[in-house]
Amino acid sequence: MSQAAAKLGEETHIKTMIKLYYDIQKLRVAVNNRVKVTEFIRCPSNHMIPYPKRKKKWDGRCPLCGAPAEVVKVTPPALLGTILGELRDIEKGIYAYLYQYVSRHPLWTNYLKYVKGIGPVLAAGLITVLNPAKFETVSKMWKYAGLHVEFACPHCGYISDAPGRCPRCGMMLVGRAPRRVAGRKVSWNPTARRLCWLIGRSFQMTGGVYKGFYKKFLEESLRNPRHRDWTMAHHIAHARRVTTKLFLSHYYCIGREMMGLPWRKPYIVELRPHEYIPPVIDYVGDYTKDQFYRNYVKRVLEEVGLDEAVYESLIRTLNQLSTGESQSEG
Ligand SMILES: [Zn+2]
Ligand SMILES: [Zn+2]
Repeated sequence: MSQAAAKLGEETHIKTMIKLYYDIQKLRVAVNNRVKVTEFIRCPSNHMIPYPKRKKKWDGRCPLCGAPAEVVKVTPPALLGTILGELRDIEKGIYAYLYQYVSRHPLWTNYLKYVKGIGPVLAAGLITVLNPAKFETVSKMWKYAGLHVEFACPHCGYISDAPGRCPRCGMMLVGRAPRRVAGRKVSWNPTARRLCWLIGRSFQMTGGVYKGFYKKFLEESLRNPRHRDWTMAHHIAHARRVTTKLFLSHYYCIGREMMGLPWRKPYIVELRPHEYIPPVIDYVGDYTKDQFYRNYVKRVLEEVGLDEAVYESLIRTLNQLSTGESQSEG
């Protein structure tokens, strides 16, 4: 077997393992919810009601019929605990397998391991599903992951890749995150899209510098008059999306730079026109002494003609944002 074929075979196994990891995790969470000892209220008519969360408020009566009731404990079978333990072991085993894979890869050892919020499982997905070598431009990578913007007619539902007027009714098309439409084949890869959704959530929850970006984009969305009728969930989804999109542009640029492949300065439609944000990691200490900065970022800054002082101020702002309190985070 050739080396290329062996590599392809390994990538297929990794993708299978990632999917299995999330399937097992989902199952483990479900079992975990059932394994706890639960308390119920039982009345003489055998009504069984889960014990109220706010225990002090309970008046000792059945909420259904008002008869005096007692508290009973329901202990799940021991087998459930055993199953939970075994699922945890499987999860750990897959995690270790994926960790072993990424720890042999330069994208992890030189880059991704220094980005808070990207663990070995997400990194394994990035390396196999969204490898920068596979995409001619970052726009193609975004599109593959369903992170591009589609333009829809608010009147008739016509969808286009480019902004402008609807050819059917002349209305201005409105940019939005691409949606599944019944009877229309999706233009993105569902695995890649799910991976990006997980990355966005991870940045929001456990990110460092990218949590900083997330907070910045969330605040901008909340202030944006064009987003006035949006729900909080919509603002959060938007901020996660733009953060993930920005991260992918950095990952694309650094990945290509590492592999000696060409890349171009990307321009993100949702950001202020032509604003370019250079790649970052969660630096420890003086970033100018960091190998990542010295080996890759310096080259990128030169290439796009960005001043070092701008980079320094960006790092400072992000560190403040990621550690500081934000009023708008709900
Ligand atoms: Zn009752
Ligand atoms: Zn139309």
